[in-house]
Amino acid sequence: MTVKRQSPEELLGLNKFMVDEEEPHIVLDKTICAKCKDKPCLVVCPAVLYTLKGEEINFEYAGCLECGTCRVMCKNKGIIKWQYPRGSFGVSFRCG
Ligand code: SF4
Repeated sequence: MTVKRQSPEELLGLNKFMVDEEEPHIVLDKTICAKCKDKPCLVVCPAVLYTLKGEEINFEYAGCLECGTCRVMCKNKGIIKWQYPRGSFGVSFRCG
């Protein structure tokens, strides 16, 4: 049996997401984020959901892998809500 080696992008692309449009499971206070010098979320999120739009943090929760890394690394409490998505929403991991 031959196992095809896949890139991280290919593996992430296999995941399926049920996005809860009514209730985001992660919410930021961008006024706090604006004062954060290090902005670790920009480098720790494996799904690269935190980006900079000018000087402001831009965040998209739709592709969240629910790993919790941003929650742990956010020392200035800019993440004012972090919880797992409601039942039936969120990521479904698929084997590559
Ligand atoms: Fe990214 Fe993980 Fe935070 Fe989701 S929980 S936004 S995947 S670091």
